[in-house]
Amino acid sequence: MSLAPRQLVFDFGRNLLRQINLLPRRPAAPLRPARAHLRRDPILEEVARVLVRQVGCRRLAAEVTVSWNPRMRTTAGLACYRTKQVLLNPKLVEISANEVQRTLRHELAHLVAQSRAGRRRVAAHGAEWLQACADLGIPDEKRCHDLPLKPRRLTRRFFYQCPECATVMARVRRVKSRVACLKCCRKHHGGKYHERFRFREIAGPGDQIAA
Ligand SMILES: [Zn+2]
Ligand SMILES: [Zn+2]
Repeated sequence: MSLAPRQLVFDFGRNLLRQINLLPRRPAAPLRPARAHLRRDPILEEVARVLVRQVGCRRLAAEVTVSWNPRMRTTAGLACYRTKQVLLNPKLVEISANEVQRTLRHELAHLVAQSRAGRRRVAAHGAEWLQACADLGIPDEKRCHDLPLKPRRLTRRFFYQCPECATVMARVRRVKSRVACLKCCRKHHGGKYHERFRFREIAGPGDQIAA
């Protein structure tokens, strides 16, 4: 009678062991920190500490870290107040050193604004953030985190036309040298330049033609 509960426990345990054995054996996962892809930047970190100290956030200055995150795609940077971490997109380096410095300050401004507010949550790109941006030297900062990945498309503002075949050529800058229509020069002048086929400037599609 007194053995019955013990037997139950035994059976339960044995069944449990059987179930565990039935589970597929997974190879042990390699010990890899979740943030292994991040690369700390000691120089930018020092810059960050100086900047943050200058605006009066001594505790934040002691805690802040700056890392590159190669997994970022179009996000220029991120700031995490809980971990006092600034993450930057390595593509910023390809754009310019100025872009790196600006993004660092933008992200630091998030940490500074939150640090000054204490427990109260501050709006991500609100007045306090703007003030922190101004204090960190980027008073005109926009509230955009995305990289200007696509190069600005240059508008072709100058249009030229061949008087012979009416081929139109568009250029970003005004053409100062003598440029003739290659097609017509080949067809009518043995491939050599001739004034007759020289491109003449015409009004572009978007131009207002003064009457
Ligand atoms: Zn932001
Ligand atoms: Zn032509």
